[in-house]
Amino acid sequence: MFDALSNRLEAAWKKLQGQDKISQSNIQDALREVRRALLEADVNLQVVKDFISEVEVKAQGAEVLAGVRPDQQFIKIVHDELVQVMGTENVPLAEAQEQPTIVLMAGLQGTGKTTATAKLALHLRKLDRSCLLVATDVYRPAAIDQLISLGKQIDVPVFELGSDADPVEIARQGVERGRAEGVNTVIIDTAGRLQIDQDMMAELARIKETVQPHETLLVVDAMTGQEAANLTRTFHEQIGITGAILTKMDGDSRGGAALSVRQISGAPIKFVGVGEKVEALQPFYPDRMASRILG
Ligand code: GDP
Repeated sequence: MFDALSNRLEAAWKKLQGQDKISQSNIQDALREVRRALLEADVNLQVVKDFISEVEVKAQGAEVLAGVRPDQQFIKIVHDELVQVMGTENVPLAEAQEQPTIVLMAGLQGTGKTTATAKLALHLRKLDRSCLLVATDVYRPAAIDQLISLGKQIDVPVFELGSDADPVEIARQGVERGRAEGVNTVIIDTAGRLQIDQDMMAELARIKETVQPHETLLVVDAMTGQEAANLTRTFHEQIGITGAILTKMDGDSRGGAALSVRQISGAPIKFVGVGEKVEALQPFYPDRMASRILG
């Protein structure tokens, strides 16, 4: 398990053999290796620091278990803490008591937000939850067409009012339509910009206030690494998120963004995107991600 980290720790922990407590100097050596592994996995620096302090507390004074190599024992402490910070269990998408469940998708352009909107609808349909997609990205007409085409592909209707309408009004009417048609879940795709800007945040806040979603999901590109932390902080402070979808996990990213997103927002990652196809969405499992992050 975790060969890269294991190899590094092995040398640092040779000294420990024969001792019955994990000593301070061993811990410091080992923590340095964990810190390096997490930074290589693109976990945000501040998040790494906070995490390391937690592990330090847990490792100090831990009894060395008979028959267990101390480096492996330490790695287990690190792994368990990672799993715990990322939420331990998979948290499914909320389902409102009274239909429709309203899901607001947020995130920067190019992260995979529109694709994730369709992926989520397909996932819900497989659970017998009918969906309506709502296209509010009026700034990029191609985005509306993209959603319509994805909707056709998965046989899920798309509500749109073209690119001249007000996004808040589109969202409001979309939810109304979903309610009138007895749809289980309305998923609202919103505009993404290349960078966070105040107009974008203000519009998203107005949509949120108007439709009162049960879920506000931040779509985060796993390849953005360290930046995921700033992105999450801004969206969480200004809009308030209830969960996240980490996309492009089929790439070579080690997934450190998962730890950053959860640590900063406290909101669970609910799904991971693992490819361009609409089927390429999986529930997020903290233990699997912990293994990937540790490498
Ligand atoms: P948006 O601007 O955030 O709505 O992003 P799009 O949904 O248009 O996606 C941007 C690009 O990323 C497209 O080429 C998608 O096919 C691609 N994409 C989205 N999700 C994933 C994923 O999980 N893995 C990979 N490899 N590509 C993805």
